[in-house]
Amino acid sequence: MRDNRAMSPPWRPTRFLRGSVALHAAALAGVALGPELWPWALGAVAANQAAILAGGLLPRSRLLGPNLTRLPARAAARGEVALSLDDGPDPEVTPRVLELLAERGVRATFFCIGERAARHPALVRAIADAGHKVENHTLRHRHDFALLGPRRFLREIGAAQDTLAALAGEAPRFFRAPAGMRNPFLDFALARLGLQLVSWTRRGYDTRNADAADVLARLTRDLAPGDILLLHDGNAVRGADGVPVLLEVLPRLLDALAAAGLRPVTLRAALD
Ligand SMILES: [Zn+2]
Repeated sequence: MRDNRAMSPPWRPTRFLRGSVALHAAALAGVALGPELWPWALGAVAANQAAILAGGLLPRSRLLGPNLTRLPARAAARGEVALSLDDGPDPEVTPRVLELLAERGVRATFFCIGERAARHPALVRAIADAGHKVENHTLRHRHDFALLGPRRFLREIGAAQDTLAALAGEAPRFFRAPAGMRNPFLDFALARLGLQLVSWTRRGYDTRNADAADVLARLTRDLAPGDILLLHDGNAVRGADGVPVLLEVLPRLLDALAAAGLRPVTLRAALD
């Protein structure tokens, strides 16, 4: 399996997860010592389980592990922002996106789905050859991804890692979960594979919102240095004219970034 394991430190659960384990143990011990305490123990465990669930359902939460939602301060100080494009490569949309980015000399980060990458290897090479970065967005983009256990996380993400590394010529360093949803085992799997979880600062909902002006407004509201913007070259919704909304939004977004004096860079460039 191609990964960055040699470089990765051992997994260390967040303080919240370690506290959750301690709370479960204390609840069990409490009930063993004083059976009449069971309603309190059950209430505490239920509240904790609800917090764990919320931590997995909220894409920008850090309860379950490290999660990059903005570029570091030093990148923001350089006026950098990151454009990330998910769910590709797409044979119709991705080449147009590459043209639009090339016209402006802009580099972006593509979170590719492993199986789609394997179906369109030339597109993955074109992304990498143009100086963009290919990162890991799972092998199949399963809708039940957030329900998987540690072993299936390792298989699903590890297989994508192998495919993407072989096609792009460089192993992904970043991972994004489908719809941003996960559970406590994901952090363990990412630590094993040497991958860093990235979500976003803001998204335009360009897989379901066909109104280009509205998508653009969502992406550019409170636009600031250090923002990570989420777009989709795969699963892009189409407007009434049949044109993928992303292709209408992207040139205007690049104009807005230029007008604001912001410089789009890849996640790797911003973090190095
Ligand atoms: Zn996705």
